Amino acid sequence: MNTSMEQLQSRVWCLRDRDDCAAYLVVGDQKAMMIDTGMGAEPLMPLVRKITPLPAELLLTHAHGDHYGAAGEFGRVWLHERDLAILGDLEEVLLPRIPVPGLRRETLVPFGDSAVFDLGGECVHVLPLPGHTPGSCVFALENEPAVFCGDAIGSGNIVLMALPFALGLREYRAGLAAFIRQAGAYGGFEWLGGHCGQAGEPGKPGYNPPRLQVAQDMLALCDRLLAGTLIGEPVWEPMRPQGDALRAYHGTAGMVYLPRQLG
Ligand SMILES: [Zn+2]
Repeated sequence: MNTSMEQLQSRVWCLRDRDDCAAYLVVGDQKAMMIDTGMGAEPLMPLVRKITPLPAELLLTHAHGDHYGAAGEFGRVWLHERDLAILGDLEEVLLPRIPVPGLRRETLVPFGDSAVFDLGGECVHVLPLPGHTPGSCVFALENEPAVFCGDAIGSGNIVLMALPFALGLREYRAGLAAFIRQAGAYGGFEWLGGHCGQAGEPGKPGYNPPRLQVAQDMLALCDRLLAGTLIGEPVWEPMRPQGDALRAYHGTAGMVYLPRQLG
């Protein structure tokens, strides 16, 4: 729960929220940026104020309510333009499950694929990776070795593609190929997922944190699924009560998807 934030790097803190959601705070010289908020289990701004008095904005990896439950506490909320375009429809489908109290439309500001957020002394670079949602993004810092993945490649378990508004696997594959070209420069960075507990414990069997290798294995997983050389096993997914979701793995990457996403 949100009793405190854990410092990971000199400018980076981690918040572990309920239901295994994670959010991160990056503190520059002139302003601070929250990357996602988690579910908003407790008021977030008092925790931010324990770390910095600087103005704080919110930058979202994507428009799922378990990543911006505390967005109502921020005066400026950055969301990729493709997710902002479908937010109303997403909310209709998803927000009955995950409400976001106090979010005001006038605080939402769109950004594009090549946006850079200058915090003074540190910059946040956008690495688009559409798939999980049309506007899903990964963010990388310019000076400190941190990459924030959201749900774009999962957090060590699977990437969940069997969701309303998720893209088909051909589009996800194209996005992965472009992302891997951009993300090669960040291979040695610490990659931080949107649900960090899913990575497991360092040093224990099954520990599988997000990293460049996961994206590379995900690309190969898409290729095998699209070629029909790998077929997933049926799996129960709460968002698919029809029972048609499938799960497949390749190397460090896993995915839950729907048969129609292969088309
Ligand atoms: Zn998500």
